Amino acid sequence: MVATGSETTKKSPRLDRAHTLMKEAGIDLLLVSPSADLRYLTGYARGTSERPTLLALQPDREAAILVPELEAAGAAQIAGGRVVTFSETDNPYAVLASALGFSAGGVQPSRIAISPQMWAEFLLRLQATFDATFVSAAPLLGRLRAAKGPDELELLERAGRAVDAAVGQIVHTQFAGKTERQIADEINRLLQDQGMEVAPWGPIVASGPNAASPHHLTGDREIREGDTVILDFGCTHEGYQADITRTVHVGEPNDEFKRVYRVVQEAQQAGVEAAREGVPAQTVDRATRRVIDDSGYGEFFVHRTGHGLGLDVHEEPYIVDGNELPLQAGMVFSVEPGIYLPGKFGVRIEDIVALTEHGASRLNNARREVVIV
Ligand code: ZN
Ligand code: ZN
Repeated sequence: MVATGSETTKKSPRLDRAHTLMKEAGIDLLLVSPSADLRYLTGYARGTSERPTLLALQPDREAAILVPELEAAGAAQIAGGRVVTFSETDNPYAVLASALGFSAGGVQPSRIAISPQMWAEFLLRLQATFDATFVSAAPLLGRLRAAKGPDELELLERAGRAVDAAVGQIVHTQFAGKTERQIADEINRLLQDQGMEVAPWGPIVASGPNAASPHHLTGDREIREGDTVILDFGCTHEGYQADITRTVHVGEPNDEFKRVYRVVQEAQQAGVEAAREGVPAQTVDRATRRVIDDSGYGEFFVHRTGHGLGLDVHEEPYIVDGNELPLQAGMVFSVEPGIYLPGKFGVRIEDIVALTEHGASRLNNARREVVIV
């Protein structure tokens, strides 16, 4: 085991705030594995492997990061804390416990919070090592990351402009005769041309009756005249996400489509207007739902109104009934109501908004009127 006191240790406001939240929650050890949480706290953006990487935070103590010996150089440059390494034959969990000053039969932490994306294998090994109560760190990390700083907002805005531009370009494509997959590939190309990384989850291109399935798996269906097509896609810029949905129509739409589209458009606007500092997150969901309920389509709005977005594409604040988390300036989330008529079509309109003290400001400004393709 090698424990290096790093001279590069910087004062980190994010770590300081994590310490404050830990004290409030009575957590004496927070363990974070590779994830957006780790990247947010340390800048370290490594993927997970079977060799554990674990950031260990204790209130008022220097941060420690456990990494395999062969990755020590990379961790030392960015972690801003003490690097603890283990060799191929060490027990990494015992190495960690000892580096933190814990021992079997001696001092033990009482409450350990575990980051939500930690592999079950790591958690089981930690449970065998520490005699403590294990809790989820999701509430703490969610609160920590929900309000974005100016540097984060800039990256989110940049990613938002890229998806807007891709919408602006894709609607000039001939849709009829192409498959959903071909349109998805074209969208990804438009994003990559702007220097963006494509999001691993999309694009969702849902055509005709497929548009009635909110998370349709893009496939080989050929798009035809008369189809509705939902385009839901994102990209990543320096780790920060974009996410947008527009619904286009191939050829002239009928009255039912126009009616449904107008309701979704009004609901989306109502949601954006309801977002104010201090109101519970569920207020925004209720605002979109009221418009759709009043139109008689309530039973066809089958998902929550939105989700927070930052280093993860889904994070706090979740815009859903029951979430009483007060909205605060700096929070960034989607407003994406939809109506899905099984066997027929669906309509969804999604923008990301950033909350300011004056209300919600849209990070997406691509045309929101029906586009005929
Ligand atoms: Zn989306
Ligand atoms: Zn979304």
